[in-house]
Amino acid sequence: MPSANEPGTTRRRAPRRNWIQEERRQTLGDWVAFCVSCGHTLRYFEESEPEVPRACPQCRAEVRRRCPACDARFPSAFQVECEECGAPVREAELFGGPIRKPGR
Ligand SMILES: [Zn+2]
Ligand SMILES: [Zn+2]
Repeated sequence: MPSANEPGTTRRRAPRRNWIQEERRQTLGDWVAFCVSCGHTLRYFEESEPEVPRACPQCRAEVRRRCPACDARFPSAFQVECEECGAPVREAELFGGPIRKPGR
């Protein structure tokens, strides 16, 4: 019978922690969709994109998961412009004020 103190238990600790981080990222999903009205954010996997709700569970507004201009997916919940084409994808006011203030 092997004892409880097997060698290798401590050695395995670091890679295992990376595993958990990787697993968590994958559980959340690789891509982001968000409500255009209240900013509610959803994460999803490429293969589960059809399951992303079209209406926000909180306010029933449109949930956006693709750039309206070029159809690119969103890798980050905090972007206000499409990474591919620069088109505005959400209201910057959601973050407490416009990022670029016209005039002034
Ligand atoms: Zn909403
Ligand atoms: Zn785009």
